[in-house]
Amino acid sequence: MKICYTVQEVRDTVKEWKRQGLTVGFVPTMGYLHEGHRSLMEAARRDNDKVVASIFVNPMQFGPGEDLESYPRDLEKDAALCEGVGVDLIFHPEPEEMYKEGFCTYVDMNGLTTELCGKTRPIHFRGVQTVVLKLFNIVTPDRAYFGQKDAQQLAVIKRMVTDLNVGTEIIGCPIIREEDGLAKSSRNTYLSKEERQAALILSKSLKLGKEAIEAGERDSKKIIEIISKNIETEPLAKIDYVDVVDFATITPVDIIKGETLVAMAVYIGKTRLIDNFIVQI
Ligand code: AMP
Repeated sequence: MKICYTVQEVRDTVKEWKRQGLTVGFVPTMGYLHEGHRSLMEAARRDNDKVVASIFVNPMQFGPGEDLESYPRDLEKDAALCEGVGVDLIFHPEPEEMYKEGFCTYVDMNGLTTELCGKTRPIHFRGVQTVVLKLFNIVTPDRAYFGQKDAQQLAVIKRMVTDLNVGTEIIGCPIIREEDGLAKSSRNTYLSKEERQAALILSKSLKLGKEAIEAGERDSKKIIEIISKNIETEPLAKIDYVDVVDFATITPVDIIKGETLVAMAVYIGKTRLIDNFIVQI
């Protein structure tokens, strides 16, 4: 497994693979890797001849006062996980390698990014789209793998690829959870022991919402109420949002039908956690 720090090294390596007719799968990450990331890499490993993972804490997608500086980092451990899955190349650039002096071109979107996380993180998706398109241009993957854990991000990337005719197939992968239901996240490391326990309120509340839909409830307001009321029983939890949206367009729906995303962001202490489920009615 090779670790590349420059765009040129990645381009040269991928060029040689393509010359040999090999396919390339790509998993973009911010590192501090866990089972969720691993599942994406395993899917990429199954589908492609070569697998590239990027580890880059992208400053552009963090707003003022967010956790850019404190975001956990451990390249050595990450490299071991990648090696174990059979990743062929890790791209680990410095911010200066990605954003040269004078950088001023962005990818933005007029829909999908205004609801859910877009409400409290207004510049987040612009940063995500810009870095992902840059990474796609550097790696030129046949397929790229994204977790449903960040469902809005997955929908945004699918839309971007369609709108801008990017020749990379986007594959969505299921949420990987801890045994007790908490969605795996690099940010779980911020939680104290007490907060870690309190964080179970996210998946437990989603379960109640899902059960209500399965029992026939179709009114989004009722689902939001069931979920919110349950979250409010946890003193350490503070709701950022609980919403029901169409998965493809990320617009709110009154009545649940088609592919529908039920998503939440909840603060547990100072840590903002997200979770969701998707139903097909
Ligand atoms: P991150 O490093 O948090 O930017 O995540 C990189 C990729 O891993 C994104 O596509 C995430 O959706 C995905 N991911 C993160 N956590 C999970 C999880 N628990 N299950 C599945 N995918 C995940």
